[in-house]
Amino acid sequence: MRMSASRKSNDDTPRPDSGAEPGAQPPAGGRQRRLLSEAQEAEVREQRETRTATRRVTVPALEEILYEPLPVLDHGFVRVVDYMGDDAAIVQAARVSYGTGTKQTRGDAGLIDYLLRHRHTTPFEMCEIKFHVKLPIFVARQWIRHRTANVNEYSARYSVLDKEFYIPAPEHLAAQSQANRQGRGEVLEGAQAARVLEILREDSAHTYAHYEEMLNQREDGSIIDEDRPGLARELARMNLPLNIYTQWYWKCDLHNLLHFLSLRADPHAQYEIRAYADAMLETVKRWVPITYESFAKHAMEGVRLSGPALEIVRRLLAGEAVAQDDSGLSKREWTELMVALGRES
Ligand SMILES: Cc1cc2nc3c(=O)[nH]c(=O)nc-3n(C[C@H](O)[C@H](O)[C@H](O)COP(=O)(O)OP(=O)(O)OC[C@H]3O[C@@H](n4cnc5c(N)ncnc54)[C@H](O)[C@@H]3O)c2cc1C
Repeated sequence: MRMSASRKSNDDTPRPDSGAEPGAQPPAGGRQRRLLSEAQEAEVREQRETRTATRRVTVPALEEILYEPLPVLDHGFVRVVDYMGDDAAIVQAARVSYGTGTKQTRGDAGLIDYLLRHRHTTPFEMCEIKFHVKLPIFVARQWIRHRTANVNEYSARYSVLDKEFYIPAPEHLAAQSQANRQGRGEVLEGAQAARVLEILREDSAHTYAHYEEMLNQREDGSIIDEDRPGLARELARMNLPLNIYTQWYWKCDLHNLLHFLSLRADPHAQYEIRAYADAMLETVKRWVPITYESFAKHAMEGVRLSGPALEIVRRLLAGEAVAQDDSGLSKREWTELMVALGRES
């Protein structure tokens, strides 16, 4: 499946079929990084080695990467830990048929495409997927706005947070965009970039050291001073910065997952959450390839037009020269339309 240039997959996210071992990170800038601790790696290995006989529908391409963490950003990952249904289950629900959901007919792709195109969404809700995600807290804040998922987050009241902070790769260290208040402009370079990275690293280390001091406990669990009590974990966490990593289990049905991806794998979304959405798109492609294809075609590569915008397209097709001032469209909508049509605005 081709992805449009503006939606190309995040380069930092290795493809699941890269053959990487669970927890392994391909060289990034020459550095190897460990995604999971040894114990966690062993747990994932055990999960992946376990085989369960089932009468339920399974999807071999998704089974291949089940439980495997797909690296995202510098310390994060997304991994599929469970799922229900497949493309055929969507068709089965739409037809309310008795089929086992494993047979695929030639009409299935056409039906799925029709359902997606016409936003007949409930058949897609029959498929469910559960992810385990490790992500910086500022990404989690954007992500949690999606209310239609079930979420269970790592408790920093119960456990001590790991000393892991998101430090952007140099190519993602951009200046504030002048054109878009919510966007990024040129990449920072030289001394300025170096200083930003220094601030981020220093502040992260500094706040974590204070976190340990307040807890009276080091990251490895050892006590700093046996003669004093530590502050409660639920309080000690409050000065940690937003770039520290948290984790959660996130379960969603396919309809709402596609809605999430349409917003968060979009070029308008912040790069950091987009990196996660791109990794999740790869899992969707393995899980429900027919649905993925229709989704990419309609939701990601397509655009929705307002009535007046459609009228402009009709006028242009009729050979009329239309300018923004006589289009009836705002400057912004006009520009968006011209970009979508690949014309000069
Ligand atoms: C590029 C971008 C920029 C953003 N900027 C900001 C910002 O500056 N400030 C800010 O606060 N947020 C911002 N957001 C968050 C945005 O406003 C939404 O809260 C977020 O994208 C979740 O979308 P949603 O409500 O459609 O998703 P979900 O919560 O997953 O809901 C899915 C759908 O279910 C329905 N639904 C869910 N709950 C309800 C409900 N209670 N009532 C009615 N219908 C419901 C709606 O149809 C909704 O579209 C931004 C999002 C994006 C993608």
